Amino acid sequence: GGESTTIGKLMVDYGLDRPLKSLIEQGLPVWGTCAGLILLAKKTDNALEGQPLLAVMNITVRRNAFGSQRESFETDLSIPVLGETPFHAFFIRGPAITEVGPGVEVLATLDDGTIVAVREGNRLGTAFHPEVSRDPRFHHYFLRLVQSVRK
Ligand code: GLN
Repeated sequence: GGESTTIGKLMVDYGLDRPLKSLIEQGLPVWGTCAGLILLAKKTDNALEGQPLLAVMNITVRRNAFGSQRESFETDLSIPVLGETPFHAFFIRGPAITEVGPGVEVLATLDDGTIVAVREGNRLGTAFHPEVSRDPRFHHYFLRLVQSVRK
């Protein structure tokens, strides 16, 4: 399997899945990028049955939604919560968010409408990898989320 399968299995083997899920449900701020976003989702529409998920975000994701590793790409995204300057985003065999439930805020979409960043209270998810962009604005956004959850 891919990264999210591996992370999920390790989480279960080390007994981290339940404590993590309950801490997140109690308000621990969390940000999942790419495989991490998959782990936060309530469900995937194409994962193998039995893939362990934390299931703490009211979203459905599609793994490898843009194709294989070779179809990885970079693009400029408009992300209103980060201001007017587009955010240069790296998609590395990333997922797409195919459904969002009530309470989920869509933060960014591709030009064709595909949802690629979401927030649900203390939970943030991105289909791309802001940690490899030189632009720190998404990290600043997460720090503000942490502050607002603390208050
Ligand atoms: N494709 C991977 C998965 O499904 C995620 C890729 C990534 O995290 N860069 O788990």
